[in-house]
Amino acid sequence: DEDLALVERGDDAVGHEEPEGPLPVVAVVGRPNVGKSTLVNRIIGRREAVVEDVPGVTRDRVAYDAEWTGTRFTLVDTGGWAIDAKGIHLRVAEQAEIAVELADAVLFVVDAVVGATDDDAAVVKLLRRSGKPVILVANKVDDQRTEADAAALWNLGLGQPWPVSALHGRGSGEVLDAVVDVLPDVSAVGAYRPGGPRRVALLGRPNVGKSSMLNKLAGSERVVVDEVAGTTRDPVDEFIELGGTTWRFVDTAGIRRRVHQTRGADFYASLRTQTALEKAEVAVVLVDASVPITEQDIRVVQQVVDSGRALVIAYNKWDLTDEERRHFLEREIERELVQIPWAPRVNVSASTGRHMDRLVPALDTALESWDTRIPTGRLNAFLGEIVAGHPHPVRGGKQPRILFATQASTRPPRFVLFASGFIEAGYRRFVERRIREEFGFEGTPIEVSVRVRE
Ligand code: GDP
Ligand code: GDP
Repeated sequence: DEDLALVERGDDAVGHEEPEGPLPVVAVVGRPNVGKSTLVNRIIGRREAVVEDVPGVTRDRVAYDAEWTGTRFTLVDTGGWAIDAKGIHLRVAEQAEIAVELADAVLFVVDAVVGATDDDAAVVKLLRRSGKPVILVANKVDDQRTEADAAALWNLGLGQPWPVSALHGRGSGEVLDAVVDVLPDVSAVGAYRPGGPRRVALLGRPNVGKSSMLNKLAGSERVVVDEVAGTTRDPVDEFIELGGTTWRFVDTAGIRRRVHQTRGADFYASLRTQTALEKAEVAVVLVDASVPITEQDIRVVQQVVDSGRALVIAYNKWDLTDEERRHFLEREIERELVQIPWAPRVNVSASTGRHMDRLVPALDTALESWDTRIPTGRLNAFLGEIVAGHPHPVRGGKQPRILFATQASTRPPRFVLFASGFIEAGYRRFVERRIREEFGFEGTPIEVSVRVRE
């Protein structure tokens, strides 16, 4: 029967959207001046030296995208955390403790020429307790003569010391092999997107003009708008060429097959919205501009946001609006849709065709944002600035800090903030707002979550 059919249609949605997990995090830990930053630069293949000869100099960036033999991970330079927001040096052990908590694997760097110090020994204790995989880097082994210094570090009880010259590159490949060996295999992770036309859902409460818009877009009047329920036998999806590109409009049978305004119509409408969203990448929510915005309109928009799909809002029946109505519409939008200022908006008429050509550019913008990945280095440089300018408020004598962040996925963009303590919801929203201001993301919801060390 009708309602079951709506549910079953969700089946061919399977597999279209494989949310990426966060990349594994590898933290580089060690005393000041052992060569952490040099090693990080070596691994990410960056030539320009951010390294300075002053111990404990803060770096402007702390996290980077790295890749070795096809395995991707986020590399974190804990040297950048040396000074906290109050300008106090974090103890090496303290810093290491935080790093170990947040990372999936640790590169522990020791200056092989200097040998292990008391500070190193304190970190070793903590590393061994953590149970996290640790790769011991015996750094500054620039030539064969210093190899014996590396061997002395067996004493630390962390297993094999890897002799490395971060400065010259000696031995760094072997260390990376060792890192990759202990990381979970996520090499398949990527901006996977199945081929084929991009999938659009036309959504909105009954009578806003979905069917009319579909017909307009399809450029034909094959189907009478007010057709009797259940008489059309259209395929579920329709492929329509717009602006030289083919688009897949999903679950159009649900639009063509009009559900009568009977008991439960609301429920079926929301079910269709959900089914269509599962198959879609971007949604066009139609709102009838000629009458006041309703709660049901807001609900549909919210459903899209919750689903993590890209969003365009089309104010339809523009031909029926006069100046007064348009004035009130703007007030309603300000009142009801303030939280979604990022959704591209088009004022259209499915009947007259007004501004229908603006739909495709809006869809393109929204999908592009939905697919966007911010490089980790850039994200953290930006985050460093906002955290320095607006540190998290001190609570109970403690200053929780955001140490670094990664973009865990696209479609939609999801960010994970790694923090040294509990981050208040208000501060998380502040960061989210700033991320939007900086990077735009017009047309896509974004998500910011926090991973806290206990
Ligand atoms: P960090 O404070 O642990 O990040 O250490 P840096 O990366 O800033 O390095 C501190 C100093 O050690 C710098 O002067 C580097 O040039 C130097 N250094 C780093 N790695 C090596 C190395 O493999 N061999 C030698 N000889 N010097 C190194
Ligand atoms: P649906 O239930 O969302 O699929 O809405 P329909 O496409 O069936 O449209 C409902 C009614 O609104 C029909 O009578 C349409 O002719 C009318 N309609 C749709 N779009 C427009 C428009 O842009 N302008 C005007 N004046 N009427 C429209």
